[in-house]
Amino acid sequence: MKRAWFRCENCFDEVAVPLLNAKVQEPEVCRVCNFKQTMQIIHNFCSFTDKQYIKIQELPELVTEGETPSSLTVISYDTNVDGVRPGDRVSLIGIYRAQPSKIDRMKGTVRSIFNIYLDLISFNVIS
Ligand SMILES: [Zn+2]
Repeated sequence: MKRAWFRCENCFDEVAVPLLNAKVQEPEVCRVCNFKQTMQIIHNFCSFTDKQYIKIQELPELVTEGETPSSLTVISYDTNVDGVRPGDRVSLIGIYRAQPSKIDRMKGTVRSIFNIYLDLISFNVIS
């Protein structure tokens, strides 16, 4: 989701809210009638972005004999989606991120084990 759309159930005022760090910042108070907890998300008016998970693997000729090639998950957005196909050799530029793995999504509890991935900024298909 790129932008969330909220409507007040009391006065029907509508407001668009851009996402901050991939989280929806739900307005607590209506800016027109000042009622609390009356804002409802309108899914049909929200805007979304294309997102693709890509798994990249170390080049076979660079892997030491007898070892497993290392791999990494790459997340691409918008115009980068579908630019890389299976079997392509690519060079990538992105942001290397570590995200704590969650034990319980409802409580938000996390482990001290991190999932690593690359947020793709640009790519170049070598062959
Ligand atoms: Zn309102």
